[in-house]
Amino acid sequence: MNIAIIVHGGAHAIDAADIDAHKNGCLEAAWAGWSVLQNGGRAVDAVEAAIKVLEDDATFNAGYGSELNAAGEVEMDSAVMDGRDLSAGGVGALKGVRHPIAVARRVLDEQPVLLVADGARCFARDCGIALCDPQEMVSDKQRDKWERRQREGSPGASDGHDTVGCVALDTEGNLAAGTSTGGTNENAPGRIGDSPIIGCGLYADNQTGACALTGDGESIVRVVLAKTTLDLLREDAPPDVAVQQAMEILQKRVGGEGGCILIDRQGRIGWGHNAANLSCAYFSTGMTEPVAFVHKTEEKEME
Ligand code: ASP
Repeated sequence: MNIAIIVHGGAHAIDAADIDAHKNGCLEAAWAGWSVLQNGGRAVDAVEAAIKVLEDDATFNAGYGSELNAAGEVEMDSAVMDGRDLSAGGVGALKGVRHPIAVARRVLDEQPVLLVADGARCFARDCGIALCDPQEMVSDKQRDKWERRQREGSPGASDGHDTVGCVALDTEGNLAAGTSTGGTNENAPGRIGDSPIIGCGLYADNQTGACALTGDGESIVRVVLAKTTLDLLREDAPPDVAVQQAMEILQKRVGGEGGCILIDRQGRIGWGHNAANLSCAYFSTGMTEPVAFVHKTEEKEME
């Protein structure tokens, strides 16, 4: 059975100086997920392994180095879904945990689908997941950016789209999708976007495919974009077609910007975006190593 993994590190304008960091981070994450799949591990565990790498990398708006909210704090959202049985777990507005995806993965095995704020943190603690001081999740870069905005009085512009996601297909033919984010920069404390909402930021169903979204959460939620994207998949068309149609819905119906990665039930990989750039890496059976790229809107070829 073929295996496959695709990860992304956000859809937005990526500065030239940050391109290598995005590519390298995505590559490392793809390798981490790949080694789980190659050893016969489950797609959900590959997704967790890949996203943990991205959460540790301050290049990305997930885990350590997340965007700060309006109160100058890191609050994180994450989710994972298993296409085998439609089980799903998510956390929202979570503080002081190094790997929100690991908490989401534990929620998946329990009855609730989404836990938020202190409840999510207590759940993590009860699972034996190490907690940390919420301040330890604040990177110098994000602190400086937040302080500069406070000084200059220009808060609110949403440039923080280095959210991460992963989709995987394992040797058993099971699909999974996961997301992790610090939200949009300077969002209101307690705000939760699309990323941990099943059907919006992610969806996985072995009968169709699995996908993970990034972009304007408030827009993505309004068009239930992850489920919408999978509903657009057709057996006789490459998955990029469904992704492109979904991006048009996002843009035309709600004026949103974002990106999507996807693997369909045939194991075909797709991706697309309507933001300036999308950073990605993917690896599937038949390839000798993962390919990483930062794609610009006007050129759809893999670099
Ligand atoms: N979708 C995320 C959110 O709205 C942000 C992002 O993807 O960059 O929280």
